[in-house]
Amino acid sequence: TDFAAVAADQLDLTRRANNLQGPSERGSAALVRAIGHGEIVPWYQPIVELRTGRMTGLEALARWEHPSGALDDPGVFIPLAERTNLIVDLDRAVMRRAFLDVSRWRTRHPGLRVSVNLSGRHLDQEDWVDQVRRAAATAELDPSAVTLELTETVRPSGPGLTADTVEEARDVGFQVWFDDFGTGWASLQELVTYPLDGIKIDRSFAAQLGRHVDNTVVRAMSTAAAELGLKVTMEGVETREQAVIARELGCDYGQGYLWSRPLPAARLEALLVTEDGELPVLG
Ligand code: C2E
Ligand code: MG
Ligand code: MG
Ligand code: MG
Repeated sequence: TDFAAVAADQLDLTRRANNLQGPSERGSAALVRAIGHGEIVPWYQPIVELRTGRMTGLEALARWEHPSGALDDPGVFIPLAERTNLIVDLDRAVMRRAFLDVSRWRTRHPGLRVSVNLSGRHLDQEDWVDQVRRAAATAELDPSAVTLELTETVRPSGPGLTADTVEEARDVGFQVWFDDFGTGWASLQELVTYPLDGIKIDRSFAAQLGRHVDNTVVRAMSTAAAELGLKVTMEGVETREQAVIARELGCDYGQGYLWSRPLPAARLEALLVTEDGELPVLG
């Protein structure tokens, strides 16, 4: 059962905390405790359909909420988790919580989707597809509501990420997207190698939209994606102008401060409440 799984994880974490040696590992002891104590929680950032401005999904982003109320910088603790392999436990903790929240929200908003980030290290676990499948089943969340964002600046080295495992994930019903496209390890070649559903163009490209008259790079990425039958999300959209250009260049979805910052579950829930029960139009 899920409780047994949680208890086993807890034991595993405790064992790992006790075995920590060396300065960088000692530095991560606090993070081990935080994961074990449920202090790493998802915040949610809306993903918007550019054509309509309607929220269609959420990305779950890890936040470290200290009991004091203080927030730790994800730009610091996520790289730390990546270096120490704790990212696998962190991904799992965020995913479990996010699946439970979204499963609950979908009773009123059956169209709502959720995207979770999986690091390359997570994908090195040979049974990663089954792990995610079980987390969705436990939360009674339809796998077709889930998008897996394959993050990572380093190319996954293990056996976990192959065309076959991506296919397996899609057979379960998950969508599989490449995150931070254009800056990470994945090249155009990888778009052909793996049977993906979409790409998220890295936010560094959003900042350039409108600065170069022809927006060559983003146009090239979205054209290639379209030819391969992939959907495109532009992340890091901060201005109306960027949203308009992204749409003109063929991007399907947008995500960024223009519409909303990542929000804690309770605030996201408040945003979801609309008079007609539809997903809200954010503009
Ligand atoms: P990402 O998956 O590309 O997530 C988007 C990041 O861009 C988030 O940063 C988000 O807060 C930020 N962002 C969104 N809109 C805007 C905008 O308009 N302007 C700017 N300047 N930034 C924007 P965050 O939350 O700090 O996360 C950073 C990265 O950490 C994520 O990038 C993702 O790669 C990783 N990450 C976050 N949560 C998890 C997790 O649970 N597991 C794993 N493996 N990685 C995670
Ligand atoms: Mg992401
Ligand atoms: Mg991204
Ligand atoms: Mg990014």
